[in-house]
Amino acid sequence: MSKKEYLELVDRAFEKIPEGFHETDRWKIPIVRLEYEGKNTIIVNFKDIVDSIKRDEKHLIKYILQEVGTAGNIKGNKAILKGKQKLRTLNRLVNNYCETYVICETCGKPDTIILKEGRSHLLVCQACGTRHPVKL
Ligand SMILES: [Zn+2]
Repeated sequence: MSKKEYLELVDRAFEKIPEGFHETDRWKIPIVRLEYEGKNTIIVNFKDIVDSIKRDEKHLIKYILQEVGTAGNIKGNKAILKGKQKLRTLNRLVNNYCETYVICETCGKPDTIILKEGRSHLLVCQACGTRHPVKL
């Protein structure tokens, strides 16, 4: 293969990369960072997660504690859970939480807010306008 042919091949390969591939600021579900302190598990970046998903920190911690079946509380930027919790479990829970309370079912974007309507809550997508009832 000549150098010219090779360069053409490279050009063509780049053309095939789907649009959006180069987006580096695309939102991703935050990843939990843990530290263990004695018999407790500390979510070191709890505040970052809350900031990223723009939901109520009390609701998120309540959800996690309920699912793990342990006690715990928020301390500054961190969340402290009783017992040794697995990183994989906590990441799965944050994922589930985002799928239920953050990500729009219709367009898959995280640009949502939760609105209270009477006794119920709605997950309203600001990207596509879909409204889904959610149970808080
Ligand atoms: Zn949407």
